[in-house]
Amino acid sequence: MRTPIILGNWKMHKTLGEAVEFIDELKTRELPESVEAGICAPFIHLSDLVSGSKETSFGIGAENGHYEDSGAFTGEVSIASLADLGVNYVIIGHSERRQYFAETDEAVNKKILKALEKDVVPVVCVGESLEEREDGSYESLIKSQIEKAFANVTEEEASRVVVAYEPIWAIGTGRSATSKDANDMCKFIRETLHSLYNESVAEAVRIQYGGSVKPENIKEYMAEKDIDGALVGGASLEVDHFVALLEGA
Ligand code: PGA
Repeated sequence: MRTPIILGNWKMHKTLGEAVEFIDELKTRELPESVEAGICAPFIHLSDLVSGSKETSFGIGAENGHYEDSGAFTGEVSIASLADLGVNYVIIGHSERRQYFAETDEAVNKKILKALEKDVVPVVCVGESLEEREDGSYESLIKSQIEKAFANVTEEEASRVVVAYEPIWAIGTGRSATSKDANDMCKFIRETLHSLYNESVAEAVRIQYGGSVKPENIKEYMAEKDIDGALVGGASLEVDHFVALLEGA
């Protein structure tokens, strides 16, 4: 009953010209109706991508956003202005932002609350490092990331959040998690949401897996009970691959 959701995360790739070319090509393809699809792109491309994707079945997302509506924050872009532009999704707390741009659990929480207020779907990323996977502390880390991310998020709002479980060791490395390991963690996240809220919220929240997902392995992940889609970096950069991912889901 949860609609599968496949989102591309372009990161710092593509010029505006390349981005528009991608969207123009994607518009000519027949996409499966049973899967929700979106492309998250660099800020400067969003205006063109939002206008270019009007009356299509796919959405457009940002890769970050600031929780303040406006103010003296040089170089930042507010979630409020993204909402005004018509952006559908915002990725929050990606491990690259946590790692290289010091994004804290507290900031992640504020961004989620702002996205919900502005009717932009927050896609909140959680995930452990290789070290945390190996020393066994990953479950307590993920639990804490989820608890902090959902602080002050009401029961009604919680169901609108998308969670992406992205083990850091699987991102861009070609070393994807096994579908069983990925599902175990998505299930664990669902159980954590159950304990924070209730069964209906836990059953409603869509949980994606992310980390070296490609057309060749998407089906394995989608066959798992608790995996509702994927957040895809590298394999979302080419139209053929992106369409293959949607078809595989
Ligand atoms: P990848 O990236 O698919 O290239 O591993 C996933 C992500 O970082 O969201």
